[in-house]
Amino acid sequence: MKYYSTNKNSESVSLRDAVIKGLAPDKGLYMPEVIKQLPPAFFHNMKEMSLREISFIVAEAFFGEDVDAGDLKKLVDETLNFDIPLVKVSDRIYSLELFHGPTLAFKDVGARFMARLLGYFMNRESRQTVNVLVATSGDTGSAVANGFLDVPGIKVYVLYPKDKVSKIQEMQFATLGKNITALEVDGTFDDCQSLVKKAFLDKELNEAVKLTSANSINVARFLPQSFYYFYAYAQLAKEQKDPENLVFSVPSGNFGNITAGLFAKRMGLPVKRFIAANNRNDIFLQYLRTGRYEPRPSVTTIANAMDVGDPSNFARVLDLYGSYEAICKDVSGASYTDEQIRETLARVLKVDGYLLDPHGTCGYRALEEGLQPDETGIFLETAHPSKFLETVESITGAQVVIPLRLQEFMLGSKQSLSMPVDFGAFKHFLMNQNK
Ligand SMILES: *Cc1c(COP(=O)(O)O)cnc(C)c1O
Repeated sequence: MKYYSTNKNSESVSLRDAVIKGLAPDKGLYMPEVIKQLPPAFFHNMKEMSLREISFIVAEAFFGEDVDAGDLKKLVDETLNFDIPLVKVSDRIYSLELFHGPTLAFKDVGARFMARLLGYFMNRESRQTVNVLVATSGDTGSAVANGFLDVPGIKVYVLYPKDKVSKIQEMQFATLGKNITALEVDGTFDDCQSLVKKAFLDKELNEAVKLTSANSINVARFLPQSFYYFYAYAQLAKEQKDPENLVFSVPSGNFGNITAGLFAKRMGLPVKRFIAANNRNDIFLQYLRTGRYEPRPSVTTIANAMDVGDPSNFARVLDLYGSYEAICKDVSGASYTDEQIRETLARVLKVDGYLLDPHGTCGYRALEEGLQPDETGIFLETAHPSKFLETVESITGAQVVIPLRLQEFMLGSKQSLSMPVDFGAFKHFLMNQNK
């Protein structure tokens, strides 16, 4: 399968090249040339199938031409070594719990799959180690580091600003060791990002060592997010025969997660409509209201993984639908203030006994307000509430139980190396590592 750029100003490339490049040379995002329809028998049999079985069928539709079936099966099985249960929260509203992976957030799915797919391509063609560089302000670093942990042939360098990420976030990528190196940069997140950017542009460095990024817009991180929409439907179908009028509500920041759901619908998944649930950063909602896409600087909220002022995957939504009118038919929007998030999170715990995280809360509330009497709603619970411990505890006034997996990170010992904001030093370090 070929992948084209949403900007249509660079050549279509193979899956391998799309994964290694990440962003197209014209700065567009890669899209598969064909989105295959899945056969009716698949939808019929889905409720008897496991998460891995369903995911493999969806993965084959995207990657089957480029990855050997046996290897693809292994990639899917290794990625999804945790469950994604559907839990009923209140009348006609279900939570798709995407937080049972190693870093307790949905980004684990994409990061784990991408790590394995990249490893697959690299190991087939060379013995040279691939170096993945990632700058992080917290959460991306942990998902990527844990996703790539122990993947042969790949080394990961996580650059993070000293004293500017939370302790628990730091422990999730700085204690791993093995093929993961944490570099504690004596500067800001922007300094980290600039070191990484300079590395990709340095000719001498790129001739000596193989470098790539684990950017969130990468097709290998983006497409696997469609798997669990099918699995959510399958779980609902076990409870309700042929669920009708299904609505997905997706807490959205860069719009990768929801766009993967729109792909699932295009493949034939019977979904009536989607809601993009935002915090106060509501550029997409404004677009739906006015037809004009006007990015603006993000504002800080208590659902901070969605503090995005110019959602990168908007280009994919536009490309998929082709027009404003077509988008409006399938997708609506919602936006909530911190105050509303707090009120809803506290109330759902009290009334329904379900603890939401601040991001999932936006998804829940959008269903609560927008679901029609004949509809069933599923919101994506994108992270475990303990990842936002202080915020959640300050809202509920109760202690949050921290899952064992998260506690275990705190028991590890920090193994970061210090790095000045000096490209020469960073380059020298990378060259020496790969001697
Ligand atoms: C990344 C993230 C989001 C936003 O997902 P997008 O794919 O960027 O829209 C929502 N919730 C949590 C907890 C996240 O980490």
